[in-house]
Amino acid sequence: MSQYEAKSKKSYMIKHTVDRVINEENIVMRRRIHCKMLAAVLLAALTLSSLTACGKGDDSSTQNATAVIENNQSEENSGNTTAASSTESQEMENVVAANAPGVVGTSSKGYAIQNINGATYVNGILIVNKSYSLPASFAPGGITQEVQNAFNQMEADARAQGLNIWIQSSYRSYDYQVSIYNSYVAQDGKALADTYSARPGYSEHQSGLCFDLNSIDDSFTDTPEGKWVDAHAHEYGFVIRFPKGKEAVTGYQYESWHLRYVGLEYAKIMHDNNLCLEEFLGVTSEYAD
Ligand SMILES: [Zn+2]
Repeated sequence: MSQYEAKSKKSYMIKHTVDRVINEENIVMRRRIHCKMLAAVLLAALTLSSLTACGKGDDSSTQNATAVIENNQSEENSGNTTAASSTESQEMENVVAANAPGVVGTSSKGYAIQNINGATYVNGILIVNKSYSLPASFAPGGITQEVQNAFNQMEADARAQGLNIWIQSSYRSYDYQVSIYNSYVAQDGKALADTYSARPGYSEHQSGLCFDLNSIDDSFTDTPEGKWVDAHAHEYGFVIRFPKGKEAVTGYQYESWHLRYVGLEYAKIMHDNNLCLEEFLGVTSEYAD
């Protein structure tokens, strides 16, 4: 198990222990969880206070919390939790209160939708799609250090397997997207361009949380690198943002090369349950016009 996988499992278990207590229908599992309630309450307090905009915990707090229930991990891992995991892991903790600053609504999954300086966060996770755009002023200038670090680890592990992945395209400013989109519209018309290129402000590339790998086209999908990324990206906190079969939900064609960072915990849930980001958060992706 890689360091990232190990961290993912710990993080996942920490943050969902409380959910399990509430929702778990498996009596055997419930009995085991009951013994962990005290630790879970302590963890919840630590975890809730450390969530950031893209839905991951502050590392130091998370590690402290992890240490608290370290002794529970081996028991969890060794137990037969297959039946439970298929039902319990489709949701994340609801960590943003309905009366929190900037809340403008609730997603279909019951998560608070916040508008913060023109950007939209669902339960603390930045969402950029055809329904939710970024203002021109949202300009991180590049992918975040956290995303870069996660990529570096993924790249190193891929390289150890004899595979070569690289970031071909990452951050794009609002103004740059203006020029890209306009050129596609001129080439293919607006209707077709909208199926593969985001309008200015609606590109996730402006978020600093995503990038395109290698060839940036369908030829990447069936390469050894493309297959490896499809199977392992979630172990580093990434998801295939526009998955195959989810075109009607994401509003975009399948893009095997476009990875979005959501953090280890949520990437695992989405991967294991075959959920795209819109399904996970309970939001749509449709242009208003
Ligand atoms: Zn992309």
